[in-house]
Amino acid sequence: MSKIKVMSENLANKIAAGEVVEKIASVVKELVENSIDAHAKNIVVSLEDGGLKSIQVIDDGDGMDEQDAILAFSRHATSKLLKEDDLFFIDTLGFRGEALPSIASVSHVTLKTCQNDIGTLIEIKGGKMLSHEESDSRVGTTITVTDLFYNTPARLKYLKTEASELAGCVSFIERLALSHPSISFVLQNNGHTLVKTSGSDNLHKCIHEIYGLNVSSKMLEVKASNDDFDLYGYICKPEILKSNRNHFITIVNDRVVKNYEINRAINDAYYTYKPDTKYPIVVLKINTDPTLIDVNIHPTKQDIKLSKIKELYELIYNTIKDTLYKSLLIPDAIKKPEYNEIKDNYVENFIHEEEKKEDSYHETNQMVMDLSYQEEKEEPIVINEEMKKLVLYPIGVAHGTYIIAQNEEGLYLIDQHAAQERVNYERYLKALKEQKITTTGLLFPITVELSSSEFLTVKNHLDVLTNIGFKVEEFGVNTFVFKEHPTWLKTGYEEESIKKIVDILIKNQGEFDPVKFNEHIAITLACKMSIKANMHISNEAIEELLNELCNCDNPYNCPHGRPTIIKFSIYDLERMFKRVMN
Ligand code: ZN
Ligand code: ZN
Repeated sequence: MSKIKVMSENLANKIAAGEVVEKIASVVKELVENSIDAHAKNIVVSLEDGGLKSIQVIDDGDGMDEQDAILAFSRHATSKLLKEDDLFFIDTLGFRGEALPSIASVSHVTLKTCQNDIGTLIEIKGGKMLSHEESDSRVGTTITVTDLFYNTPARLKYLKTEASELAGCVSFIERLALSHPSISFVLQNNGHTLVKTSGSDNLHKCIHEIYGLNVSSKMLEVKASNDDFDLYGYICKPEILKSNRNHFITIVNDRVVKNYEINRAINDAYYTYKPDTKYPIVVLKINTDPTLIDVNIHPTKQDIKLSKIKELYELIYNTIKDTLYKSLLIPDAIKKPEYNEIKDNYVENFIHEEEKKEDSYHETNQMVMDLSYQEEKEEPIVINEEMKKLVLYPIGVAHGTYIIAQNEEGLYLIDQHAAQERVNYERYLKALKEQKITTTGLLFPITVELSSSEFLTVKNHLDVLTNIGFKVEEFGVNTFVFKEHPTWLKTGYEEESIKKIVDILIKNQGEFDPVKFNEHIAITLACKMSIKANMHISNEAIEELLNELCNCDNPYNCPHGRPTIIKFSIYDLERMFKRVMN
């Protein structure tokens, strides 16, 4: 190879490095994906100072012979590994060939690898081979990257703080571990273990190893198929919620991907089971024919496009909704104790500051390496019907807000406003969907006066009001008169309700969607018409409310997603009072 050629290749590598290698996590990604491609079963990633000082990946994969080891750093030679088809047709994870030479062109790399008996040790700095010798014969590969971007100061500036780079690596390794439960991953920083999975090939156990017992014990299994997609995974009960969508982990054909519609399906399925600003932990594996995937070929992007996305949306939405509906979801007031909690104070303190800054930050500090995982017994699904049979005996009301009730299983606290809001919400929604509407005449017709633009909006959508059971007529300048209303309006609150509904109609102008309109009416009126905190409620009314709540489709949350009911099990009480120990 002539000198000039080598120089230009080196330059090309440095340029490519700028595109492919942006963060410590992208170096880790390339190295670890190589290990997976080499069929490694155990992958250990050791960082020093969040990877700013050094990044080491040790695997027990196939290893390379001497020739391949040298070729691995040659841009053109390795690119040949790429098959013609796109990424999803080949069983390698990512874009091959350019990454390793690119990384080597902007850092100091040591590669120790062995396939059979003779190992190879190569040292490269700034793309130049420093040494090349025989080494010992442990099968597998150890690759160490130090001084990243030492020769490209402009790039070096882009690296973030140690904590931030580390958080990116933790997040990446956790996702990769979830997408490959059969491989054991260890991630360490300065000798402290941050992620450790056992490679058990059990997704639930892997979730347990990453999120800890409090989360893993609150996960519900989901499984479904249609003609084009197989769906499998775990979704969390709504009592476990996060403040961002980072824990929507979707894996299509073993690859962690991002897709807006999939995320929307997950979020929509939790509608009213959670507040809008909170998000569940969901790990979904989706298997499909690769021809349905339109791959964005850019190596660093996770976004994909899918054909038949509408069908996939329906499958995910219905499966999650159904699973939530069928499960008993009363949250325990007391969290499960974490056994042998190896909480890493180091990480906790270290990352604390950064956490406040970065919304996307991943909760490393909550990670618990719990070794007490036990294989889950096939529990029969507790059908929501159980909830309908639940009898709660009221004891009283605390702070004018929380109904205290009990039964043979434990003690319950029920938020009286939230509970009644749920009951009213489902009642209104059903009434609004009803085809046959019963209406009643108003003794004193109600007039509503509007501005001229508001008047026009309402006039354009008058059919919407008639459809849900109002008899409305124009009445002089910018005024309507309501003569009949549907029977479900709460007696004594007719005028207030009508004004609210007209308000909602005006606010909904532009993109008018009858489903959203009904939803909006049901939520607004439910809140307005429900007993507030600190309002007295009679014993009979309490009994009726509890009974109605238990019969709701979702008795666990108000329409805004707040909990309506929490439980102290007998066991929790006994444990707190030390009547039982453990
Ligand atoms: Zn409310
Ligand atoms: Zn509410």
